[in-house]
Amino acid sequence: MTFETLGLSEPILRAIQEKGYSKPSPIQAKATPAILDGNDIMASAQTGTGKTAGFTLPLLHRLSKASRARSNHVRALVLTPTRELAAQVHENVLIYSKHLRIHSTVVYGGVKINPQMMKLRRGVDVLVATPGRLLDLYQQNAIKFTDVETLVLDEADRMLDMGFIHDIKKIQALMPKERQTLLFSATFSNDIRQLAKGMLKNPVEIDVSPKNTTAETVQQLIHPVDKKRKTKLLSHLIRTEKWSQVLVFIKTKHGANRLVRNLYGDGISAVAIHGNKSQSQRTKALSDFKRGKADVLVATDIAARGIDIDQLPQVVNFDLPNVPEDYVHRIGRTGRAGSQGQAISLVSADEIKLLQDIERLIKRSIEREEIGGFEPEHVVPASRKVDSNQKPRRPKKPKIKKDFTKTNIKGAAQLNNESKRKKPNSKRTNGEQKVGAKKPSQNRNKKPTSGQTKSQIQKKRVFLK
Ligand code: AMP
Repeated sequence: MTFETLGLSEPILRAIQEKGYSKPSPIQAKATPAILDGNDIMASAQTGTGKTAGFTLPLLHRLSKASRARSNHVRALVLTPTRELAAQVHENVLIYSKHLRIHSTVVYGGVKINPQMMKLRRGVDVLVATPGRLLDLYQQNAIKFTDVETLVLDEADRMLDMGFIHDIKKIQALMPKERQTLLFSATFSNDIRQLAKGMLKNPVEIDVSPKNTTAETVQQLIHPVDKKRKTKLLSHLIRTEKWSQVLVFIKTKHGANRLVRNLYGDGISAVAIHGNKSQSQRTKALSDFKRGKADVLVATDIAARGIDIDQLPQVVNFDLPNVPEDYVHRIGRTGRAGSQGQAISLVSADEIKLLQDIERLIKRSIEREEIGGFEPEHVVPASRKVDSNQKPRRPKKPKIKKDFTKTNIKGAAQLNNESKRKKPNSKRTNGEQKVGAKKPSQNRNKKPTSGQTKSQIQKKRVFLK
């Protein structure tokens, strides 16, 4: 399969060639003909597999065949959940349309609205937008939707979840009935799938990867550690592993700021990107990180959605996300476009339930590796030490897994209470005894000495049964 056989026009093929793509990715190969034929589509593809070109290339082909946009009108509207993703999608549109007579622009909040109103005046063939600012512009009569031929929702699962659904419904109501709608996302929960279907007419469903899977090119690892020692462990890993470009995910904005301060205290250059930062601060943080001025970018989930950084080798989950699908999105920031990447999660005892939800979603258990000097006080999961070459054992029957899971959570919680109350003989079920009875590691309190490398530190590989 080549781009030529997909039937894309010569100016687009030239732009692709200049960008250096030799052949279409699976999502591009499947989505392009369906979109060129005018179908609605609902496509789920792993992040980093070329989704953006998957809808942009056929969109540009169709738009370039007809007349240009009228003043204040828009012909194709691409909605994204974050400003960064909007900017990034627009960069792609500019690259792929550089040999076409196509006018595109991007609008998002956090910056002045007037320059955006000016740009819309001459009419726009492709408008990339975040929902809130788009509605502001509409209310100020700066944009008309009557000529919209195609509506694209990128990261559609996020666009249709609670935070955005009201805006999306308002925008949908303003769209012409006769239009093409394209939904693209890495993950689709069942609820979102139902909701999405209500927006589409006889959609072609494209699924180039099994639902909610993580890319094979990403090596996933868990380091069990006590909550209060996570920052020290992160600094230790950055130094001993000599990581120079690491994206760290964290749940809260305050947590992100605190982590940046603490890393600075440890002599590590870090910047944060989250919703409380102004747009110019966010842009600067991202560009400092991309240009290597900062080794660490600390990001919250929303801010990091869709960020594409070439060859990002390392992603760290400082804490696990509440929504398991976010884990898939987070680790999709590495191992993109076929390159290798590593995703490490620092997991404390209170996150067992979140970890189990993630493992259930991605249908695999993630390898555990304790770092010498950072072994947790409380064992994270009920785990079994195995030979480092041995493959993780998967639960055989769902029923066993369920029982085991219950025991595991209860056991760990009980272990926490046990250690506080110091009552060794309290009643436990058989399963719970197993967890509680696990001997503390010999070198639990051993701290790594300065200059010690990771290879010198004893590592233990443990797996969830
Ligand atoms: P996306 O999933 O759209 O965020 O794309 C992830 C990365 O893959 C981006 O850096 C794209 O430039 C790159 N990419 C997209 N399509 C191709 C292709 N056909 N061949 C090589 N790289 C690609």
